[in-house]
Amino acid sequence: MGDKKKSMQDKVLCKLCKDDCIKKCLEEYVELVNDPKYICKKCGRLANKQKNLCKPVKI
Ligand SMILES: [Zn+2]
Repeated sequence: MGDKKKSMQDKVLCKLCKDDCIKKCLEEYVELVNDPKYICKKCGRLANKQKNLCKPVKI
């Protein structure tokens, strides 16, 4: 079976919601957003790391 567990760490979270990835990888997603330091000024999404947002702004 193709157990391709894609790491979310290098993904832009803003885009993930489109392919339903957050539901499948909720625990991993939470680890990326549980201590948010950045907000996406385009989408309003929060994330711990700048690279996970499409238009990150430090908060
Ligand atoms: Zn965004």
